[in-house]
Amino acid sequence: MASGARAIVVVGGGLMGLSAAFHLRRADPQVQVTVLERARVGDAASSASAAGVRVMGRDPAERAMALESLGRWPELDRELDAETGYRRGGGLRIALDDTGWAEARATVGEQRADGVPVELVDAAAAHRLAPGLSPDCRGGVHCPIDGQAEAVATVRAWATAARRLGARIEEGVGADALVVERARVVAILRSDGARLSCDVALVAGGAWSASLLAKIGLRFPFRGRGLQMLLTDSAPATLTPVVGCFGRPLSLKQLADGAYLIGGGWPARVPDESVNRWEVLDDSVRGSLEVARAVYPPLVPCTVARSWAGIEAFTPDDLPVLGPVLGVDGLLIAAGFSGHGFALVPTVGDVLARLALGLDPLPYLWRGLGAARFA
Ligand SMILES: Cc1cc2nc3c(=O)[nH]c(=O)nc-3n(C[C@H](O)[C@H](O)[C@H](O)COP(=O)(O)OP(=O)(O)OC[C@H]3O[C@@H](n4cnc5c(N)ncnc54)[C@H](O)[C@@H]3O)c2cc1C
Repeated sequence: MASGARAIVVVGGGLMGLSAAFHLRRADPQVQVTVLERARVGDAASSASAAGVRVMGRDPAERAMALESLGRWPELDRELDAETGYRRGGGLRIALDDTGWAEARATVGEQRADGVPVELVDAAAAHRLAPGLSPDCRGGVHCPIDGQAEAVATVRAWATAARRLGARIEEGVGADALVVERARVVAILRSDGARLSCDVALVAGGAWSASLLAKIGLRFPFRGRGLQMLLTDSAPATLTPVVGCFGRPLSLKQLADGAYLIGGGWPARVPDESVNRWEVLDDSVRGSLEVARAVYPPLVPCTVARSWAGIEAFTPDDLPVLGPVLGVDGLLIAAGFSGHGFALVPTVGDVLARLALGLDPLPYLWRGLGAARFA
């Protein structure tokens, strides 16, 4: 889109913005890259994330991108020269009843047809993969290439790597407005009053992308929703895969220190969508624990050490918006990851950098995710 771009401003220092900054500088060390983060890097969804790195169970439109990303995760620490806490322990989504088991069987074929290496496993195999699972487990779907990382470490790793390559990351500075002249973004108005000229502005502002874009007349249906997480005290290490369950909201993993991390899309309260503030809901804590303990009884004696939430941008089809916007040159968007963007970060950043620099943007990886569907 912008062959010859010399100055690129990234709005938002979440994982998408940081990955874009890293890839931009790696692809072209001459290009000036400034990331404006109004709070601290990773402040919103990224540091709060459950950090599951999965391709299993994704919408067909995201599969190519997820497969591409999962191909990079095992080497990512080396690529970034920093630690993400990544570990490939597989993913296992189990069924506890007939309906779940029917769903499990139905999903395998179409995923495999798209190259997702899932396999149906019976109850005995599921228990071998995750000893301690509920005796009601009927079996499930296993994906050996799924895994997990650690959210805060991953944010730090991308930020460190981007800075090392020469990206300028400014924290505590927001982008108040995009300046458009003759249908092209030419600058950003910063919250400190300065005007920052650019050839390309890349909006990766998570749940707050919509308000920035609305100021230039672009209406995107991003909605901020709070997603809640629980962390237990440490326990002896027993669980290798990331565990989910058909028909019940759950994502369960055990971290390196033995603590269990429990999520699965349980809502937190967001009193005012315009700011990054959330409140943990007791009902979500109770519901989340109940499901997790039913699926994995070794959790019963564990106590919750911490709970938190992150505000994530959702779209009506639960798929991200990626790429240029027809009619406005010099603008790229990466937002609306709808609760499952973490795994995609390496490829999203690569695609954004390619788009910004006028390189081959690998369209086969993000077909169906473009901005045109909401234009
Ligand atoms: C609790 C939770 C669990 C999750 N679990 C998983 C998972 O297991 N697997 C998975 O794949 N995905 C998961 N996700 C989703 C994933 O974490 C997100 O999709 C991803 O982190 C989004 O990154 P981002 O950079 O788009 O957004 P964010 O991390 O929200 O970053 C946007 C940044 O932009 C900044 N900003 C906004 N507006 C402005 C402005 N005008 N000027 C300057 N800065 C601005 C914000 O302060 C923020 O730091 C989860 C998300 C949450 C919340």
